[in-house]
Amino acid sequence: MSSRIYFDHSATTPLDPRVLEAMGPFLSGAQGNPSSLHQEGRVARAAVDKSRVQVAELVGAEPGEIIFTASGTEADNLALIGAVRASGKPGHVVASAIEHAAILEACKFLASGGTKITHLPVDRDGLVRPDGLLRALQSKVTVVSVMAANNVVGTIQPIEELAHLTKLHDVLFHTDAVQAGGKIPLDVNRLHADLLSLSAHKLHGPKGVGALYVRKGTELAPIIFGGGQERGLRSATENVAGIVGFGAAAEIARKELDQEAKRLAGFREYIATEVLRNFPNAYLLGHPTERLPGHLSFGFRGQEREVGKLLEALDQAGVAVSAGSACSANHSGEPSSVLLAMGYDAESARGLIRVSLGRFNTQQEVDCFLHVLSNAVSALPGTAVRASLPRLANPAEAAFA
Ligand code: PLP
Repeated sequence: MSSRIYFDHSATTPLDPRVLEAMGPFLSGAQGNPSSLHQEGRVARAAVDKSRVQVAELVGAEPGEIIFTASGTEADNLALIGAVRASGKPGHVVASAIEHAAILEACKFLASGGTKITHLPVDRDGLVRPDGLLRALQSKVTVVSVMAANNVVGTIQPIEELAHLTKLHDVLFHTDAVQAGGKIPLDVNRLHADLLSLSAHKLHGPKGVGALYVRKGTELAPIIFGGGQERGLRSATENVAGIVGFGAAAEIARKELDQEAKRLAGFREYIATEVLRNFPNAYLLGHPTERLPGHLSFGFRGQEREVGKLLEALDQAGVAVSAGSACSANHSGEPSSVLLAMGYDAESARGLIRVSLGRFNTQQEVDCFLHVLSNAVSALPGTAVRASLPRLANPAEAAFA
């Protein structure tokens, strides 16, 4: 067993052993191509179809509305680029300012082809305000994209309300639910979503598998061309083992969602309370209540530039957390574009620490993390740490005793 504490589930999650077990038969032995008509092919087809049902059930969709892709990124690209291509015009895409790079870069690509792009502002908590969307909807819009939950600060958007506004204007609505999938209840009908992206590796499934929900009747053009798999929307031989893993992960997440959300929210609140109590200069980021259950972001006022050192110290002490999104890790030291969009100055936007918890985390690990954090913060120059956390000689031992 690993002696490390993994608190970076927003970057990716460890594979659930039950998921691995479901994938096993499709990783070894004779594996058919789901498009083949012989028995091996039929077995593979049946497995993909079963997963389609499992993924559809996670979001209240019909199985025929699920298109498997190779990632959440691809699902996001297909949603936006596919919607614009299907419209036959350069069109107008409206997306929040704090979307993942998979959306923002797709917007840039579309802009290079003449598509008008409008980014919706967010408030200090990271919420898109409906009045901002209403203003954008005054002109003709092809598709609106607002993420269900943010990967950096964990804020959950009022998707139902925002999507409802787009419906009043007869505009397509896409939501990137890669972070929200399996963590909060999602129902495409209640949310009025036409398009919704998911990714298996964020819910204890395998990496390299995603899905796009496409509401029946929604016009979408492919962005990958070939043999016409996935209703012609995503040509390529299906990643059968990955899709089977996605299906199993989606079913487990759906069945355990309520209980798990409660457990993780409990850990999150406990960490938030302890961080604020023990570090006088600590501040929380993101919405105080409308946030993902296991997701906490915070900073230390006046020490924003020390975050790199702090994360290194935590890593050396056996704790994996991150500074914002994994995708921006290469640019560490740069201010977070999400925090800048939320109105933080460049200094504060450098100082984010993201703790994201998952299925296998325990109270012991949470306690151990707090001790390790306390040690690491007190080693920084000019830090005041209130001594209410009992010091452990070897926190790692305590966690795995
Ligand atoms: N959208 C959001 C909100 C994400 O957090 C991520 C991954 O971090 C993605 C999309 C991309 O998903 P994938 O890693 O499956 O390409």
